[in-house]
Amino acid sequence: MPETPDQKPAPEPAKALKSTLNLPQTAFPMKANLPVNEPTRLESWQKRDLYAQIRRARAGQPKYVLHDGPPYANGAIHLGHALNKCIKDFVVKTKTMAGFDAPYVPGWDCHGLPIEIKVDEQLGRKKLEMAPIAVRKACRDYAQKYVDLQRSQFERIGVFGRWNDPYLTMSFKYEASILETFYDFFGKGFVYKGLKPVYWCIHDRTALAEAEVEYETHTSPSVYVRYKLTSDPATILGAPFVTASSSRVGEAPQNAPVGDVYAIIWTTTPWTLPASLAVAFNPDLDYVALKNSDGAIYIVLEALAQQTREACKLDATEIARFKGSALEHTTFQHPFLDRQVLGVVAPYVTAEQGTGAVHTAPAHGVDDFYTGKRYNLPEVQYVDNAGRHRHTAQHGGHTPQRYEDVTVFKSNPVIIEILKEKGALLSATSFEHSYPHCWRCHNPVIVRATEQWFIGMETPMPADTPTSVILSEAKNPGISSEAPQIPASSETFRQRALDEIKQVVWDPAWGEERISNMIATRPDWCISRQRIWGVPIAVFLCEKCGTPLNDKAINKSIVELFHKEGADAWYTHEASTLLPKDTACTCGHKEFRKEMDILDVWFESGASWHAVLEQEPELTYPGDLYTEGGDQHRGWFHSSLLCSVGMRGIAPYKMVATSGWTLDEQGRAFSKSLGNGVDPVDIAKRLGGEIVRLWVASVDFREDVAASENLMQRVSDNYRKLRNTLRFLLGNLHDFDPAKNAVQDFAKLEPLDQYILARLAELTTKILKAYEEFEFHRAYHALNEFTNADLSALYLDVLKDRLYTFAPNHPARRSAQTALWRIAETLTRLIAPILSFTADEVWALLPNVENREPSVHLVLFPNLAYIPKQREEIKAQWSAMFAMRDRVLAKLEDLRTRKIIGKSLEATVTIKFNDQALESAWKEYELALPELFNVSQVTLEWVADTGFEIVPGLSVEASKQLKCERCWRYTEDVGQETKYPTVCLRCAEALAAINFPPYSASQDDGEAA
Ligand SMILES: [Zn+2]
Ligand SMILES: [Zn+2]
Ligand SMILES: [Zn+2]
Repeated sequence: MPETPDQKPAPEPAKALKSTLNLPQTAFPMKANLPVNEPTRLESWQKRDLYAQIRRARAGQPKYVLHDGPPYANGAIHLGHALNKCIKDFVVKTKTMAGFDAPYVPGWDCHGLPIEIKVDEQLGRKKLEMAPIAVRKACRDYAQKYVDLQRSQFERIGVFGRWNDPYLTMSFKYEASILETFYDFFGKGFVYKGLKPVYWCIHDRTALAEAEVEYETHTSPSVYVRYKLTSDPATILGAPFVTASSSRVGEAPQNAPVGDVYAIIWTTTPWTLPASLAVAFNPDLDYVALKNSDGAIYIVLEALAQQTREACKLDATEIARFKGSALEHTTFQHPFLDRQVLGVVAPYVTAEQGTGAVHTAPAHGVDDFYTGKRYNLPEVQYVDNAGRHRHTAQHGGHTPQRYEDVTVFKSNPVIIEILKEKGALLSATSFEHSYPHCWRCHNPVIVRATEQWFIGMETPMPADTPTSVILSEAKNPGISSEAPQIPASSETFRQRALDEIKQVVWDPAWGEERISNMIATRPDWCISRQRIWGVPIAVFLCEKCGTPLNDKAINKSIVELFHKEGADAWYTHEASTLLPKDTACTCGHKEFRKEMDILDVWFESGASWHAVLEQEPELTYPGDLYTEGGDQHRGWFHSSLLCSVGMRGIAPYKMVATSGWTLDEQGRAFSKSLGNGVDPVDIAKRLGGEIVRLWVASVDFREDVAASENLMQRVSDNYRKLRNTLRFLLGNLHDFDPAKNAVQDFAKLEPLDQYILARLAELTTKILKAYEEFEFHRAYHALNEFTNADLSALYLDVLKDRLYTFAPNHPARRSAQTALWRIAETLTRLIAPILSFTADEVWALLPNVENREPSVHLVLFPNLAYIPKQREEIKAQWSAMFAMRDRVLAKLEDLRTRKIIGKSLEATVTIKFNDQALESAWKEYELALPELFNVSQVTLEWVADTGFEIVPGLSVEASKQLKCERCWRYTEDVGQETKYPTVCLRCAEALAAINFPPYSASQDDGEAA
């Protein structure tokens, strides 16, 4: 109907008639102009503190606590942040609208290396003259700047939360909580200090946690080096062996070897050779002695003999064979240092690569370190924290070599050169392999034995820490209310953590196995870092014997101090002023120094359940949900579990949900060089925050998700369609007052209106179930399908005649409006968690009802009790009519193609039944059918003839009736009401109802003929 009639100017009455149509009117603009309007709405929310209003509205309801994983306060937000925060916002808003009190306290991770590095860069040389406290101040300012920036960006995309009071890991109370958590571990005996090989970044000069190491391709030298045997060859040759000539076991060879004997080692880190203290062999595998054409004899693993021959270009034949155990306690000459190197055995030596003889530097490998311990090798460290060789006597080492002061990676060629000069090098090539890199600076890392603080994974759990199982049983009223019997357990920390993983719901389910494997195999947790910007391991060490003081009262006083002054206090107070007079070490000494290492940042964020969930009265511990990227199984989920299990014995969360990565449409990571990045801040600025949100809703976040400008535009198109639907709904409710005009009795609604409401109920159930399961993309698709297929293409299309041409107060029109009102109310509530700006905009324009909340974000999800339960029956009745509609539309299209009709209103439809029961079933809908088919007339006819190809039969032809000038239908009653001679009776009634003045037929009304 909205299109205007003919080209020639319409006669006066026709123009006037058009003005009597009930055309849509609304203040809801087609063009959303989101980039301008969203910030205005945001401001109004902030002004009336909508978040606080929501809290008050849900006070006393059951809690649902999603605990925010703190993003790092460094830089602007990226798409991954937006995805993460929108998912959390969807969860919080859907839970809130489902009736829960779901507070959301956002947090930031503020300490740590990346910020300290940035600040280092900004300070430059100035930093060297600055006191640590001043550097910390600069870091704090830096972090605060990005907290503020990210906060405004998260708010801009419509994320609700306690933004005016977030948790910051650098706040004094949080810093105090971190220390409290550490002291709890310390007090229970979980913490020890020891020399241990750790990943070490020589660029950042710090130890790195497992989680801070990433594997990248790296080219290393690949060298084969010979170590000359200095112990008696007979200790090997005297052992059971088989010579090449005689295959008898245990018999000394006839031609005992006379040349020098060597073991061949293979390494990709020549720089570790100065620290080489042993050569390891597998005790149970077969080794061979190969005699080279030059007389030298080489010992290698039998399984790798051929490979080694080729790599070292040896022309050697096997002269003896023996088990690796024969090589234990042999000695070798270091290839270039004045040092004897011990032959040792270790089960980790395998036949996979190398030579089966493994050069062992206890300072630079985990396996090596423990082998060193077993054989009592000296614990020495000749590489400083910047990765430079420090071997001179002043560092406790040997005579200076050419690599002295050279960083390890640069020293490789120098050492290879020395090997060559000494005649120890058999082969040098390069080798590309996967090698650990620092996740911050992306430089290759080394393994370096350093003195660090550790939490021991095998520490026995204190017998009185409860488990989740016991806690949940204790809470169950069906079980005895007496205190649960907690068995004294020999369970280790690791085992308890593994048990607690099983109490948690992991979504997707594979998360459980992933984190279990990580916890099961992880080494002890190295919690110390040699940096400034963090929370110090505030422990006093005896100046004389180094023993740490572990005194509950002293520890408590330091926590209180941190509460007042923050962790800065550790830097501003002297040890002597912090300790009570006469504090003495077990050794009797009374002077102490402060440990200046800081805690691993993962320990800090891992303590957030204690610092936030346990201490904020509006939150609960354990939290209901943690949701972050899938990499957090080794990050925050992991450290939170360990901190919580160690301190309280239970997991800090009931459920953990993970999301995938954001990638481009080709599945590639975003990168500056590819120029494929999608910036959520930019999208919000150009297309609107709603488009970012709608994109997040459109993807299955559990998988890796694709984003591009193209996809954002597509989402934006979908948004436009949805907006137009909402606009149509609002436009046709401009004269609808629910209190006066709504059809209260469902049975009195027009059949088609009943049908669409049954579909609405179905949609609501589907969307609410999707929300419940955090399947936001299912909600998105169900919503699109409903608005496109059910509303735009069908219901709203056929409804126009009833809405526009019937008398405003006609019951059939009010029925339609009642349905539109219900749909608008329901859709607005359903979309509110996702399209938070638009839903709020629509809410303000919906017909007013009594006691209406000022914002959609304060209300509950729709309650569809007014729609009867027989929704399936209603749908079934209509399925036959929709099938008929498809047939009618096909025939109309055919008539149009053959130019028999123009508009479908020019047609009349006859449906022929040969089954009386069927015909009477259709009779009930007879009046609804012209509307459904958008034709002027539908006749139901009973015929005896059963010769139809398809039942019921159908004929569609051009109407022979006159056209009503107002509604454009062709009916037999046009002109019957003489006051309004050019319109049908229905239109005449509508005109009379609005007191339209009578008129006479114009001369120029030939168009209808
Ligand atoms: Zn680094
Ligand atoms: Zn002491
Ligand atoms: Zn009419």
